[in-house]
Amino acid sequence: MLYKNPYNHYFDYVVQRDLDKCIRCKACVTQCSYGANYYDEDRDLIYSLDHNCVGCMRCSTFCPTDCISIVRNPDAFRLNANWKDHNIKDLYKQAGTGGIIITGMGNDKPFTNYWEHMVIDACQVTNPSIDPLREPMELKTFLGRKPDKLEMNKNGDITTKLAPQLVLDTPIMFSAMSYGSINYNVCESVARASKQLGIFWNTGEGGLPKALYEYGKNTIVQCASGRFGVSPEYLNAGAAIEIKIGQGAKPGIGGHLPGEKVLEGISETRMIPIGTDAISPAPHHDIYSIEDLKQLIYALKEATRYEKPVSVKIAAVHNVAAIASGIARAGADIIAIDGFRGGTGAAPKAIRDNVGIPTEVAIAAVDERLRQEGIRNEVSLVAAGGFRNSSDIVKAIALGADAVYIATSALMAVGCTLCQQCHRGRCAWGITTNDPELSKRVNPEIGAERLVNLITAWSNEIKEMLGLMGINSIESLKGNRDRLRGVGLSEVELQALGIKQAGM
Ligand code: SF4
Ligand code: SF4
Ligand code: SF4
Repeated sequence: MLYKNPYNHYFDYVVQRDLDKCIRCKACVTQCSYGANYYDEDRDLIYSLDHNCVGCMRCSTFCPTDCISIVRNPDAFRLNANWKDHNIKDLYKQAGTGGIIITGMGNDKPFTNYWEHMVIDACQVTNPSIDPLREPMELKTFLGRKPDKLEMNKNGDITTKLAPQLVLDTPIMFSAMSYGSINYNVCESVARASKQLGIFWNTGEGGLPKALYEYGKNTIVQCASGRFGVSPEYLNAGAAIEIKIGQGAKPGIGGHLPGEKVLEGISETRMIPIGTDAISPAPHHDIYSIEDLKQLIYALKEATRYEKPVSVKIAAVHNVAAIASGIARAGADIIAIDGFRGGTGAAPKAIRDNVGIPTEVAIAAVDERLRQEGIRNEVSLVAAGGFRNSSDIVKAIALGADAVYIATSALMAVGCTLCQQCHRGRCAWGITTNDPELSKRVNPEIGAERLVNLITAWSNEIKEMLGLMGINSIESLKGNRDRLRGVGLSEVELQALGIKQAGM
């Protein structure tokens, strides 16, 4: 008889503990939400069940004597160029369960990361800024349809009627993360930070909790296929409305919030019974063509008296430029393009890792297409999907984005360690969990402070980079691909990005 399932033996992490330093405080036991640490009272010893460990680092972070190290399991399968460790483990998992493998966060496969293959140009003699942090350096960004031309009266006042705009103090926003996939405390952290920063956060498809209506002026309310929480009151509570068509982590499929995550507040906000699965189908029940999309865009504009810009969010796929052109012509004011490194609360691993294209290429293709068609001014572009730092953002704007959405990096600012277990609802950092005790691990005040710090730091770095390019306004960088050069890319890749080879 076997004492254990041999396939459970192939776990990823080992919890190492220096017992001489351990003071038996049991913090590692209480902090681990995956049941990987336990205390044996008889022996007065702390033990670990390594196969339960997901490598979230919560225990090692909170161990007062720093006696824990989370290390990769040194057990190794025989080296095989075709069968990587994760291929083998996934196969065993499916042979044991018969199920689709679900995972959280974004695509982690080693596809070419084009941000790493682009470098930024600098002015050295002509006009670099002397002190970009003290000189006027404009990061203010306007999102929405711009007129073909501006007319003024004899007093110099603009008489052209402008379409509604979102005004951002810096070109960074918090991407859609629904209440339910993240808990209330994280939503509040993001909402508070947006207000302080003069930017916007996005409700995702989960509706807007009543207590967060006070942040409406800094909120983009989403209208997704499940229509969770969508009401005239909700649409009017936000500063803009976003129709979610697709998501970078899982293009072509819908979403699913399991019933066990639908607790009281979430059920009320989503307007569904407690404990029922919240299923968002892949398509909207009323959208099967660009004409149908146009109808929804104008229905939403009508419902909000044409006072709010309407955004349409799509996943980056091969024909993204043609799709974006259709969306612009359908009357959207903003198009958000989510690349395949975009995070998710839960997605089938096979889809997350193999469907879609990188944001870098998508944004370049869309900007180019809209320019060629002469409609670039009719719509703003927001790039999403795996922004890690300020230089990624500068490169995205030079490729043609007006602004970017961040989500994974925002959650990291609040504590996320990228363990990719969001789908299990047991996030040890209290983020992608609705467990009342675990949720308390995020304090909205501290969360907001850390988010404000991150965006402030990135904004200052963006100003530094603008300064070295001899540019004093983010607007002048938009689509200015001449300020980028490619390193280590093929001719075809350079062409797709619309940039020159370094040295040319
Ligand atoms: S807290 Fe995280 S790192 Fe520590 S044992 Fe539990 S799962 Fe592993
Ligand atoms: S947290 Fe550190 S000191 Fe406390 S019981 Fe765990 S290993 Fe020992
Ligand atoms: S949100 Fe939580 S569960 Fe998800 S990757 Fe981050 S730490 Fe892990």
